[in-house]
Amino acid sequence: MAKRKIVQYGDETLRRICRPVDKITPAVLTLLDDMVETMRAADGVGLAAPQVGILRRIVVIETEPGNVIELINPKIIATAGEQEGSEGCLSLPGQFGIVRRPRHVTVRAMNRHGETVEISGSDLLARAFCHELDHLDGKVFIDRAIRMLEDDE
Ligand code: ZN
Repeated sequence: MAKRKIVQYGDETLRRICRPVDKITPAVLTLLDDMVETMRAADGVGLAAPQVGILRRIVVIETEPGNVIELINPKIIATAGEQEGSEGCLSLPGQFGIVRRPRHVTVRAMNRHGETVEISGSDLLARAFCHELDHLDGKVFIDRAIRMLEDDE
């Protein structure tokens, strides 16, 4: 595994639409491993492939330490409820904003074994699904923020 450089806001890479993965190759598995290592090294709870410069539909999430969720070609298939809360991003260090997201989210994706999985999450995990999947379509949380937080909030 290797740590990769995290693309910072302002880089066009973060505004591109990512392409689906059509085959799980060794390069995809290496990317997943590297993304997990990079996310952990940066103390993040999620990371999307464009954040390490790869325009593929891949995200990793770890809202509960030790429970890594790897999603390839993820799609949100159901949402319910609503939550408002603070959000940040490894590509925008030091910036936080209030973002409205669904309270419950179910995603369908492929795992590293090429199997289709459906995972449901609430609260922070639901927020992470939405935030990371947005990255695959060139969106970042400040596009959706109701307002940004000041340093003393
Ligand atoms: Zn982000």
